Amino acid sequence: MPVVTSADASAVRSPAADAAVLAVEADDVIRFARALIAAPSENPGATEDEAATVAADILSSIGARPEIVRGDADRPSVVARLGGADRPSLAWNGHLDTVPAGEPETWSHPPFAGDVADGRLIGRGAVDMKGAIAAALAGAAAIARAGIDLRGSLWFHLVADEELSGVHGTKVLWERGLLDQDAAIVGEASGLQLGLAERGGAWITATAFGAAAHGSYPERGVNAITSMARLLLRLPEALPDISHPLIGGPTVNAALIEGGTAPNVVPDRCAIEIDRRTIPGETDPAAVVAPFERLVEQIRREHPEVAITFVLNEWCDAAESPPDDPIVRLAREALATETGGRAPAAVGFSGITDARYYLNEARIPTVILGPGSLTAAHAADEWVPVAELVAAARAYARIFVAFLGAEGLRKSG
Ligand SMILES: [Zn+2]
Repeated sequence: MPVVTSADASAVRSPAADAAVLAVEADDVIRFARALIAAPSENPGATEDEAATVAADILSSIGARPEIVRGDADRPSVVARLGGADRPSLAWNGHLDTVPAGEPETWSHPPFAGDVADGRLIGRGAVDMKGAIAAALAGAAAIARAGIDLRGSLWFHLVADEELSGVHGTKVLWERGLLDQDAAIVGEASGLQLGLAERGGAWITATAFGAAAHGSYPERGVNAITSMARLLLRLPEALPDISHPLIGGPTVNAALIEGGTAPNVVPDRCAIEIDRRTIPGETDPAAVVAPFERLVEQIRREHPEVAITFVLNEWCDAAESPPDDPIVRLAREALATETGGRAPAAVGFSGITDARYYLNEARIPTVILGPGSLTAAHAADEWVPVAELVAAARAYARIFVAFLGAEGLRKSG
């Protein structure tokens, strides 16, 4: 992969970058965001087709030729390129799907209206993440409006299915060989800070086996629910004593439980689903499962009847960006420029994002950078500050021009 070495951080304040930022229109940001919010794409529950059409129309209006890419499940991701030469190239990734809106009565504004009130844009997807998509599209629209031709290629990857792990979205683009840019930005809400690491996850089923007996003679059986209880309260002991500077230590959560057959029967089986979140450096699934097995061995010293097995169902690697990569430096400078010189903080993501496909599969330096706070995501009255959407559009425009280079800036004055 060609490596971009020319991206001098001061390029974010070049005349072309300044001209692009001046051309950013808050109206574009709001209009694009409202159009995307008005095209529901609840996942699970719907497809992204309507939202993909809206995004493709906006991309066409700024000079791109968007294509819809569909995997086996027929879910649409929009891929579009703006600019001149193939290299350098930069991908901007945002997901078109949202979590379901839930009961409309729990909202004080209609979930698909995109109302603006008190400086907030409100609606399903406002912060996660149709607002960010609108900001990136508005940044690209500003570049076109300023008469700037990007020297390299800006790729939009507006994808399906991120909320349910991205297998029908960004993963499809990866499988089709479309993740081959020199750097990437994933626009998940980072509060305009620099997201440089994210957790991974291991989903593990633990099953306790006992012996059934009549409920009036519990001593004649082995209660699998009791065995599981002995494990449940000690789950945190299976966490290694490690920590990452941006995302802290690993975590464990017992997420689901089932067991027993009837009120008058000693249960011979109890199962739980364990959500074990990993941090960068935890790359061996066996090493994550083994401490749970050792914990059961400890429990068995006092309670030899306890029999519990573990099966790893899903594994998702944690991800980390190279902190000195050109895209990281440019993003840091661009954000500082847009926020009055204050350098953004490097932050970690506790959740899992599509950045992992760029970082871990395609090996592309990637930053997570977007407007708003994830604390407002997935809830009723989801919102994002309008000012942050516009600041994001300006920062994206700066980064796009600085990373890809500019030609054709009309001389003014
Ligand atoms: Zn998201």
